[in-house]
Amino acid sequence: MRPYTCPTCGQMVFFDDTACTACDTDLGFRPESREVSAVGSRDRRCANHDEIGCSWLVAEADEELCRSCRLTRTRPPAGDAAMTLAWAEAEQAKRMLLWQALGLGLDIEGATFDLKSGDVEPVITGHADGVITIDVREADDVVRTRMRERMGEPYRTMLGHFRHEIGHYLWMTLVDGTDHLAGFREVFGDETTDYAEALEAHYGSPDPEGWQDGYVSVYATAHPWEDFAETLAHYLHIRDTLETAGSFGLSVDGAHEALQPAGDVPTSRAAVDRMAIEDLVERWLPLTYALNAVNRSMGRPPLYPFVLAPAVIAKLGWVHELVTDTS
Ligand SMILES: [Zn+2]
Ligand SMILES: [Zn+2]
Ligand SMILES: [Zn+2]
Repeated sequence: MRPYTCPTCGQMVFFDDTACTACDTDLGFRPESREVSAVGSRDRRCANHDEIGCSWLVAEADEELCRSCRLTRTRPPAGDAAMTLAWAEAEQAKRMLLWQALGLGLDIEGATFDLKSGDVEPVITGHADGVITIDVREADDVVRTRMRERMGEPYRTMLGHFRHEIGHYLWMTLVDGTDHLAGFREVFGDETTDYAEALEAHYGSPDPEGWQDGYVSVYATAHPWEDFAETLAHYLHIRDTLETAGSFGLSVDGAHEALQPAGDVPTSRAAVDRMAIEDLVERWLPLTYALNAVNRSMGRPPLYPFVLAPAVIAKLGWVHELVTDTS
């Protein structure tokens, strides 16, 4: 998440801040221009501002909710503090998703979100026909860690869920029924194989031998759709984290002899769009080694606990072309 500047005092702020911590100026985010500005008397805050701290402003006269909140069709019942907090965290992750999509020129505003609590009804996180369902209980660290361990995953976050599920949505809008479908099948395989059977087989069998050589995660082996969603999520992780590092002028050039200077990451979207995936990955990997080590220094798990084999980089390259071609 690259920083912004407080328009009043110049303090570093973020797109999700509702006020400057240094000078108390009320801040709001304008999705139309993707800018943070001081909230004036003519500006309208999102109707969810008071309840969940949404920072976005509303440009359209006939709308109450901002461009992110209005994509939510179902929210947990009001009146339960813990559930409202979990919902707020889910909405924050959704705003990060939409903020990045706006920056990449990816249209995801046709998606509908059901943000439900498994404490109220059975909820299965997933995507179906443009509807993304998220169990907001995963905002709770204890719940998420339990799930992460049960699923044998090295990484599980609310933002990661949103980036994965939007991958299914983008497959539907950018790949299915388009000229990209043949290329998709060459890279990810035939998605017409039965999805439910594939998932059942995945959960019923041990991890495929050597899956790291071809897939970014073991879950990606379950079905070509999951492979694409996992790869797309990683692409979004990489683009956002590189942009953040670039915006701070962070570059890694070798505390260890194996780390060659990787070069700076351009901060403009157009420049990154034009880079080859190999050049992006060349900058990404040293950064992850360094940030993983930084996390260890703080007693935290690695920031990016993944290996990118050449076949996985090729899949990321396909996604890179898809995203930069259609945006
Ligand atoms: Zn300020
Ligand atoms: Zn909002
Ligand atoms: Zn999925």
